[in-house]
This record gives sequence, C-alpha cells and structure tokens, in this order.
Amino acid sequence: LRIVVLGAGAIGSLFGGLLSEAGLEVTLIGRPPHIEAIREHGLRIDAVKGKKIIRISAETDVSAVKGEVDIVLCTVKAYDTKQAAADAKALMNGESLFVCMQNGLDVEKEAADTLGEANVVRGVTNNGALIIKPGYVKHTGVGDTLIGLPNKRLMVKMEKLTQALNRAGLPTKITDDISRVVWSKVLINLGINAIGAITRLRNGDLLLSHDLMDLMRSAIEEGLTVAEGLKISFRDEDIISKTYQIARATAQNKNSMLQDVEKGRRTEIDFINGAIVRLGKRIGVPTPINDALTALIKGIELSTSNASREEKS
Ligand code: NAP
Repeated sequence: LRIVVLGAGAIGSLFGGLLSEAGLEVTLIGRPPHIEAIREHGLRIDAVKGKKIIRISAETDVSAVKGEVDIVLCTVKAYDTKQAAADAKALMNGESLFVCMQNGLDVEKEAADTLGEANVVRGVTNNGALIIKPGYVKHTGVGDTLIGLPNKRLMVKMEKLTQALNRAGLPTKITDDISRVVWSKVLINLGINAIGAITRLRNGDLLLSHDLMDLMRSAIEEGLTVAEGLKISFRDEDIISKTYQIARATAQNKNSMLQDVEKGRRTEIDFINGAIVRLGKRIGVPTPINDALTALIKGIELSTSNASREEKS
C-alpha cells in the first residue's frame, strides 16, 4: 500500500511512523519545523513498547508526492478537513481511499463534498499522542481504532490497512456502525471538553463539583436527544456514567480542547458542541446548554487570538 498521511501532527506522525515501520510505503505531509526535523534526524517516537527513531519520507506539500496513492490518512484537525481534501485530490483516483481520523461530527461530509462519498471513509481512534517538540512524538496511550465500512470495491485496501495497523501495534477493527462509534465519542466529549476548557480543570477535577457534574449531564442529555432524533439510539448504554468513569480514569489529563485553549489555538468546538447545536436546530431540538458552551469557547478563542495579536504588535 502507498500511503500519505495528510496532517502529520501528533496522531498522524504516530500512525504514519508505526505504519512505515510495519513495512508500508508512507509519506508524511506536515508543517515545516516538524518535517525538517524528521528529515534531518528521523522521526522519534516514544512508543508504549520502547523508543524508536524512524527514517520516513516527509514533505511539506502534497505536490512533492509523485503519482497516485492507495490511501490518504487524514489527521488534520476537524476544521482543516475541507482544505486537506482539496490538497489530497491530486493524489487520488477512483480506487483511492481518504480516511478521516479526526474527532467530531460530520467531518467526513466535509471531505466527501470534494472527493465524493465513494472514496471517503470515517475512522475514530482512542490512541493518545503528543508532539513533544518538532520531530518527536509521544504515544501517550494505546486505545482501539475503528474504521467504517468502505465502498465494496475498496474493501481489500481497507483490510490491508487494518492488518498493517494491527501489525504496527495500533489495534484496529472495521465496523459496520461507525456512526454510532463517532457519536459515542462525541457525547463523551460533550461532557468533558468544553467544560474542562472553560474551567481549566483536569478531567478528574471536574468530578469534584456536583454543579459541574450536573452541567456535564445536561450537555450530554441534549446530545442524546439530538442523536435519538437522528435515529441513533443510546438507550441501551449509560453514556453519562461512562463519561464520569472516563473522567475518573483519566483524572490527570487535560482534555484536548483545554490543551488547545492553553496554547491559544483554535478548538474543534464546531464539530463537537457546535455540531449538536446545528443538528438540533435542523430537527427542532433545543440545545441551550451546548449553545452556551459553544459561545463561551468561541469567546475564549477570540480573547486568546486578540491577546496574541496585541503581543505581536
Ligand atoms: P495536530 O497535532 O495539530 O496535527 C495536525 C497537523 O496537521 C498540524 O501540524 C497542522 O498544522 C497540520 N495541517 C493542517 N492542515 C494541513 C494541510 N493542509 N497540510 C499539511 N499539514 C496540515 O493535531 P492532533 O492532535 O494530531 O489531532 C488531529 C485529529 O485527531 C483531531 O481531530 C483530534 O481531535 C484527533 N485525535 C487526536 C488525538 C491525540 O491524542 N492527539 C487522539 C484522538 C483523536 P497547523 O497546526 O499549522 O495547522
């Protein structure tokens, strides 16, 4: 398989590096400091099973990749998907797959608008990765990865990718119900991410306040009502208890939205709480809690970008 990882940040570098080590032909596409460091020193991965330096092809622009590829693994943030799909177009033919590995709702639709539904497939990963410095990524936690069923014609490629990911130490399965998997992760994110980012609390500390626990519950309940309205039912699963359990099990972690806010970066709010608001409006379900959480995160994004503009001037 010829693979391009588009958006070689934390997750993309981890997946790309380990796939290359498992014998696949992989090119990473990412931003200059990280890519230059990889070219000079190799990609350092502190994996769960030891430290490694991987020599891997790395570029800052898709135009450096010659010919078409079998799979584009898209690992940009959700809000960059549209641009990534446009960039990937030149690398793909009717037999290529664009696999969206981002968090959030409807990410794959952003890509399908440009590339067509037949060539786009959705994935969800519960691995954790962190860029320590350019050229150096840490695998912070092993989790499962689920990928949706592709178009029948592309099934063989998808199976090869899945086998390679498993060989690479990234446990992966194909599922016929990826939409439920995506929703399940988003519902948990509704309970933790924005609330952790606004309060600046680590996951476990959210559970020290009954008021915050009630707010987590309300945000998730709105999401569950929207999901039900879209015929995705979680009646057989207690997502609220699961969210509290996850917050407890990852007590020391700062969720990804809190990390983005602390770094003054844009967050994925539009694809998490913001998506619930959008979908709720479409089907007539009120979502006042997620509306407020979305507005507050947008306000924080605005204040950090204003502060950095003032700092520069
Ligand atoms: P990240 O470290 O920011 O990686 C994304 C990289 O892609 C950034 O370096 C970004 O550069 C670059 N990029 C954006 N558009 C590009 C383009 N058109 N061409 C080349 N490079 C481009 O983000 P991440 O933490 O890996 O997360 C990626 C996605 O995976 C998110 O949806 C996240 O929610 C999900 N996820 C992450 C983890 C994790 O542990 N990290 C776990 C599960 C799921 P700029 O920063 O300059 O834009």
